[in-house]
Amino acid sequence: MTEKLLLLKYILAFLVCSSFLQIVNNSPIRNVTPTKMVRTHENPWIEHWEIKKQRAISSWSYTDPEAWQHSFPTCGSNLQSPINIETASLSAYPKFYFGNYGNIDRMTVTNNGHTVLFSLPSSIPAESIPFITGGGLSNRYNFVQFHFHWGNDSSHGSEHRIKSKKYSAELHLVHYNTKYGSFSEATKYDDGLAVLGVLIKVGKKINSPFRAVVDQLNEVDEDGDETTLVNLISFKDLLPSRTTTFFRYSGSFTTPGCEEIIIWTVFDDSITISESQLSKFRLLKGRDSLTLVNNYRPVQSLSGRTVTYRSHSGCHITINWSHISSPIVDIYQYSTCVFSFYANSFLTILGVNL
Ligand SMILES: [Zn+2]
Repeated sequence: MTEKLLLLKYILAFLVCSSFLQIVNNSPIRNVTPTKMVRTHENPWIEHWEIKKQRAISSWSYTDPEAWQHSFPTCGSNLQSPINIETASLSAYPKFYFGNYGNIDRMTVTNNGHTVLFSLPSSIPAESIPFITGGGLSNRYNFVQFHFHWGNDSSHGSEHRIKSKKYSAELHLVHYNTKYGSFSEATKYDDGLAVLGVLIKVGKKINSPFRAVVDQLNEVDEDGDETTLVNLISFKDLLPSRTTTFFRYSGSFTTPGCEEIIIWTVFDDSITISESQLSKFRLLKGRDSLTLVNNYRPVQSLSGRTVTYRSHSGCHITINWSHISSPIVDIYQYSTCVFSFYANSFLTILGVNL
């Protein structure tokens, strides 16, 4: 009898201990030990966190841009884009040089649920990649992709505003600083990317070069769709006719995570497309099959930043004269600069290369 009681006690003790060990084993505290976090993602707590993070990355929307900063703290920082450009100080930047901005064949078009994105075919030879130099940029910046922002009607849609004026849409041509070797490496530096912002108005005439951009949009009408363009796209024809005047400021991506690594150029001259061309963008569907419209971020605070402006001639006159530079010297230098600009323009028209 005593032996049976003893055996029963052992069994009970075993059961109690094993259930205790099971509780410990399932404890969330045990599951977040640092060694396990580093070694593997099998941990349910980490997996939960990863899934939540992934969901946050992919599930941001334009319905509440103010909420982006909860999942992406940089979105609440001080060097954010876009901005409303009210005033700017003159700066003597050189002109832009647009390399390989001619016809590009077989571009890839992707609907990523937030915009429609045009990127280079992987087969493009390195020497044919479009790039920009000059314009006050310290290096050569290679083209990566361009995409658009638009509204549900033509009274709004642009991200940047000039003197509070909203445009119907905006084109962003994204380039990376080649001194960093690749786009992903460049995104780690504050001079990593240069984006050209082209404001788009709506007019009566069809914009012919823009046909190649809109003709196949119906092939990417769902989130995740991708197609290859049949027609060539001329980058030059997507730019405004005057690229010698532009605004410049330091800012950020206008989508999460809002990294502050972009040298922004916003041309004050705009391009014009027809209402029917712009309406093709409004037929696209984004996340959760909702109509993809109003995919622009509201303007952000300047927070003490200075916007600079390149005038047509690239010449500027110093306004705050100090004791070491007299107004006469500055006016002389300015006049010489303007004279040489117009002399060069005249010789260019005549086909004379200096
Ligand atoms: Zn953009």
